Amino acid sequence: MKVGIMGGTFDPIHIGHMLAAETAREAYNLEEVWFMPSHIPPHKEDAGMTGQVRLEMTAAAIADHPSFRTLDIEVKRGGVSYTVDTIRELRQQHPEHDFAFIIGSDMVEYLPRWNRIEELAQWVTFIGLSRPGTELAIHRLPEFLQRVVVTAAMPQIGISSTEIRKRAAKGASIRYMVPDRVYEYIKRSGIYGLQP
Ligand code: ATP
Ligand code: MG
Repeated sequence: MKVGIMGGTFDPIHIGHMLAAETAREAYNLEEVWFMPSHIPPHKEDAGMTGQVRLEMTAAAIADHPSFRTLDIEVKRGGVSYTVDTIRELRQQHPEHDFAFIIGSDMVEYLPRWNRIEELAQWVTFIGLSRPGTELAIHRLPEFLQRVVVTAAMPQIGISSTEIRKRAAKGASIRYMVPDRVYEYIKRSGIYGLQP
């Protein structure tokens, strides 16, 4: 089975993540996409909300998609979430699957600095989707990465979780930036300072 892994902090999950996953699924005939919240992302100080809350929001977001699943492997493992450790584990658990890692262009740019990237690049394909603010520049990557990064055209979504957190905190609307079920979840639990 061809499986896409959509990794992220998902703090909160928003329509940019959803559309990136759906675009990659369709373009590369992925049978499933597994949404995987990280525990502590390597490139950030800390995730704001707990892994449990970010998993619940993710589960709410994808509930009605027949090919989308959540994956709690990084939240369960704890510590800093290095993709290379995760993919190693997933390949052991599912030797029959082919894994593709789905990332936005900001992460494509950052790929050369990922932990043990040479090792990881032997195990997965990366599907890079362009995102406003960073150019999707495969040609600027080192040769060994150019061979494993593919792309797909995606409508540009200029939305980030950071912006959503800021908007919620100042009382601005985040409706339609996140899936309805996620909006309800955030409102109900009063997280990010959003008033119920
Ligand atoms: P934050 O602002 O907290 O960093 P974020 O919006 O960047 O949040 P992440 O959880 O960091 O979201 O991103 C997870 C993955 O989704 C990354 O590979 C990122 O590039 C990709 N991604 C996030 N937002 C978009 C978007 N609007 N369009 C395309 N890809 C996106
Ligand atoms: Mg980010």
